[in-house]
Formats: sequence, C-alpha cells, structure tokens
Amino acid sequence: MDIKITKTTTPKAKPAPGQPLGFGKIFTDHMFVMNYTAGKGWHDARIVPYQNLSLAPSAMVFHYGQEMFEGLKAYKGEDGSVYLFRPDMNAKRANNSNKRLVIPELPEEDFVEAIKAVVDVDRDWIPTDPGTSLYIRPFIIATDEFLGVAPSKTYLFIVILSPSGAYYESGLEPVGIWIEDEYVRAVKGGMGYTKTGGNYAASLIAQVKAHDDGYSQVLWLDGVERKYIEEVGAMNIMFKINGKVVTPMLNGSILPGVTRDSILQVCRDWGYEVEERRISVDELVAAAKDGSLEEVWGTGTAAVVSPVNKLRYEDEVMHIGDGGIGELTQKLYDELTGIQWGKRPDTRGWRVTV
Ligand SMILES: *Cc1c(COP(=O)(O)O)cnc(C)c1O
Repeated sequence: MDIKITKTTTPKAKPAPGQPLGFGKIFTDHMFVMNYTAGKGWHDARIVPYQNLSLAPSAMVFHYGQEMFEGLKAYKGEDGSVYLFRPDMNAKRANNSNKRLVIPELPEEDFVEAIKAVVDVDRDWIPTDPGTSLYIRPFIIATDEFLGVAPSKTYLFIVILSPSGAYYESGLEPVGIWIEDEYVRAVKGGMGYTKTGGNYAASLIAQVKAHDDGYSQVLWLDGVERKYIEEVGAMNIMFKINGKVVTPMLNGSILPGVTRDSILQVCRDWGYEVEERRISVDELVAAAKDGSLEEVWGTGTAAVVSPVNKLRYEDEVMHIGDGGIGELTQKLYDELTGIQWGKRPDTRGWRVTV
C-alpha cells in the first residue's frame, strides 16, 4: 500500500504531562484516510491533517447505519518504544464485521499498516503518564448519496487517534453492574459479534437506566430467553466460580474481544480450568448465595480488566467477595498491562513494535 503523507502546518499543542486526558476527547494532528469505489477497490491511501469530513446529507451512513469500527491502543514503553497489542486480531475482526455489514473487506496487512503509519506520524502524541495510552479508532462509513436501501458503492476508511487517560485514574476500582432484564442488545443471527454503531444505539437506553440507579455498566442477557449471560456494554465478562474461570461462549451475539481471548489464554497457561459455555443468571444468583462466586471481572481494550464487586438482577443485589479487587483479577490486570507496556516478557508474540 502506497501512503501519501501530508503533514499539518499548524500542529496543535499536545496535552501536558499530568493533565487529565479522559477518554476520546482529544485528537492528534493527523488521520489516515482511504477511499473505496466499486470497480476500483480501495484507493488513495493517505495521511492528512485531522479535519472535518464533507459528506452529503444523503450519505448512506446517516440513514441506514452501514458502518463499522474497531478499537485498540498504542502504548509507549519506558525506553520510548511504541507498541500495539495483537493488531492482527483487530484486522480479522474488522473483516468479520465488514462481511456481516456488506462492506468491502480490507486486506488485513493494509489495516495494520495504516494504523502503524498514522501512529508513527503522531508518535509524539502518545502520552507517557502511568496507565495512559493512545486510543486508536479505525472505522468505515458508507458514503453513496442515495436514500435507497442497498449496500453503498463507495466508502471511507479512516483512522483517528486520541490520547487517553488511565481508565481508573487512581488505580483499579471495582464497579457495580446492572443485569438488564427488559431490553436486549443482540440476538443470534443479528450483528452482536460485529463492532457497529447500531449495536451501541440499541444499548443506550439501558445504560441510561443503569446510570440513573447508580450502576456504571449494563450486563446483557440473551435476546431470546433473557436467561443467559452475554456481555457488558463494551466488555466481555468472566467469573471465577469454585476456582474455575467461566465465561459465556462465543455464540454469534457476543463480541469476540481481543482482551477476552488474551485473558483466557493467560488463565490456561497459568493452569486454571477455563470453561466457555452458557451461564444462566440463575446459576450466578445461586453461586453468589452459596459463596462459590469468587470473582467477577470485565475485559476490554479500554479498561483491560475491570473488577466487579456488585451485580444487580431484579430485586437481588449480589455482593462479590469482600467488595474489593479479586486476587486473580489483579494478577490478570498486572500481567496483561505488563505485556502491553513492555514491562513483562511477551512470550506469546502479542506485542508489535511501531
Ligand atoms: C469492543 C467490545 C468489547 C471488547 O473487545 P476488546 O477487543 O477486548 O476491546 C466487548 N464487547 C463489545 C460490545 C465491544 O464493542
């Protein structure tokens, strides 16, 4: 792929060390852009100054939601090295989303090369305060000017970058989770396994409800029986029950997280028995009652590992452990973030240097 680079002549001030970054609010000086035209394929790969897009109001993405996105991070090690974490997994997942949404696929190596190229141009934007990173948001939108319902013939693939703070400003902090029993996020045969805006649009109403009740995240149940555990808003969920690590199996309605896959591999390497299977909410309630539900945590790129100390289901509030961070939860967080920031040995070849 031939990438034309046009650098900004008016670079923005970078956030100062120590400045709180939050998540997804600050954007770097450049972005990657590439067009797709039917008959021509992907073309005009370029890095340009970060800027607004000009799109017709009739552009298809605004009407029928034909779009997909990805999310990963770049980390700066103590010696200044810049790392990505398993970007090939994001490239594969991007194409699974593309197939489902009838968006033209992107060669996996081009997806990774685009990310590396734009991260390289803006590498000085990667923050270095502990726990901070550069969030990478690749996405594709349908751009045909047409109100008919059909796959678009033109698309834009864009990668933007956002310096982001540590998810937990003052170290790992347990969160309370609301098990949603009214609305559902996805069903088998739908788009649950893709990263696409529509899934998030469907989730907002329950998120508002949970927040109003003081819970930070929603845990979804299956869309048919509302009986089996699926995943959290933007995280997969795992339980330690009677010493075993248990997580819902990938069934088509759950997003296959890169963090999920990595954590399960680490658990297996550490000798834990890992079960990927159906877990009913009744099983959880029973395990919480008899004390066998030892730990609960979410996994996702943003927080890496997120300890859960409280689960609400209808009139039941399950308190997990002593309300603090589980021992395995903390160990998994330390191991994965250690690999990502280059502080621990990468025995599985997960770190990719930019
Ligand atoms: C992105 C996402 C996850 C986590 O995936 P990672 O690859 O680990 O970041 C989990 N669930 C949903 C719905 C997501 O969109």
